[in-house]
Amino acid sequence: MRILATTGARYDKGMRDAAENAGFHAHVYFDAATREKAVGFREAIAGRFAVELGRWHEGPIGPHTSAMYQVAFSPEQFASIVPWMMLNRGVLRVLVHPMTGDEVADHTSNPLWLGEPLPLDLDFIRAHASRSVPCGKLP
Ligand code: ZN
Repeated sequence: MRILATTGARYDKGMRDAAENAGFHAHVYFDAATREKAVGFREAIAGRFAVELGRWHEGPIGPHTSAMYQVAFSPEQFASIVPWMMLNRGVLRVLVHPMTGDEVADHTSNPLWLGEPLPLDLDFIRAHASRSVPCGKLP
């Protein structure tokens, strides 16, 4: 495989710098059938990583169309927590998205999904994007 030189601007016009990202959210989705798995997953995360764990949302909230809780972590933690989630999420679906300040892009073109993606309420994100409501200020 040939690797292109990246020293010039020829190949990276319009690309964003990863330093624009302030951190990540992982949204861990669950339902009645997977709630106990979500409990165990959360406890394991809390025991291993110095992350911010959001409250339990037992139903859809904001742009999230399923019950979920949020895990917030820094760019420096990504390489340890995301691979761990890949190996241990089991049946849980997890949305990992950056926080670049562009809420719409962070939830549409920028995220990665562990497991089958769930639909998001993009209208909610668009309506509230300027106020940073979708994730960072969920009640
Ligand atoms: Zn989020």
